[in-house]
Amino acid sequence: MGKMRSIAAFVLLSAAITGGCSSEPVSEHSNTKQQEAKQQNNSPKTAAALAATVTTRGNGTKEVTNMLDTLVVVNKQRNMGADYEPPDLVEPNIPFSIEKKDPKKLMRKEAAAALEQLFAQAKEEHIDLVGQSAYRSYATQQAVFKRLTKKYGGEQEANKVSSHPGQSEHQTGLAIDITSHRMGFTLEEKFGETPEGIWLKEHAPKYGFIIRYPKGKEEITGYSYEPWHIRYVGKEAAQEIASKNSTLEEYLSQ
Ligand SMILES: [Zn+2]
Repeated sequence: MGKMRSIAAFVLLSAAITGGCSSEPVSEHSNTKQQEAKQQNNSPKTAAALAATVTTRGNGTKEVTNMLDTLVVVNKQRNMGADYEPPDLVEPNIPFSIEKKDPKKLMRKEAAAALEQLFAQAKEEHIDLVGQSAYRSYATQQAVFKRLTKKYGGEQEANKVSSHPGQSEHQTGLAIDITSHRMGFTLEEKFGETPEGIWLKEHAPKYGFIIRYPKGKEEITGYSYEPWHIRYVGKEAAQEIASKNSTLEEYLSQ
């Protein structure tokens, strides 16, 4: 892949940039800012790099074809099938905000192992990190979205605080929302300014994780800033993305 000097943004057709983290308990207040995505010219290089990993369904929507790739890109233009379930989900041995067994504690094996190392390092430095929500099935996301559609009186409104089923990165098993006791286990933007949020941003890449929806990259990722949502992409990609203050989409368009 050649280097792309200029940063190009994606065409975002959806009206609002919204987080994909809403779950039970829902932290809907975290994305009340209704930032509008400007339509920008798509970079041909970026489009080509990502076009290779989608297929077009009968209804015209794009379905991701490289689900098992740790660099898989799922966003508002790139859907997962309703039946996609990661083949190697395990529960990482880290503190969670809930005690009981729950599918939302699961992650893909490689990501779970890396997460345990990240949390071990945090513990050593007396940084209090708590897992809140990792894997979410299509059916669970569908239920959450349905509930929010009813609550807000429409899908468009619901999409401002939650992802459409098939578009939540949590379905990949590679993402997890992190919180802390200080945050009362909520997912809010101010987490990014707490010692835990600052530590997480700085140390996550060493273990293969990125802050997937960074501040100022809303037009590229399609999502508001989410300092709590980390995504496993592997060490090499994570370190390059972090060092360039970049995104997964930009990394894949180089
Ligand atoms: Zn999330």
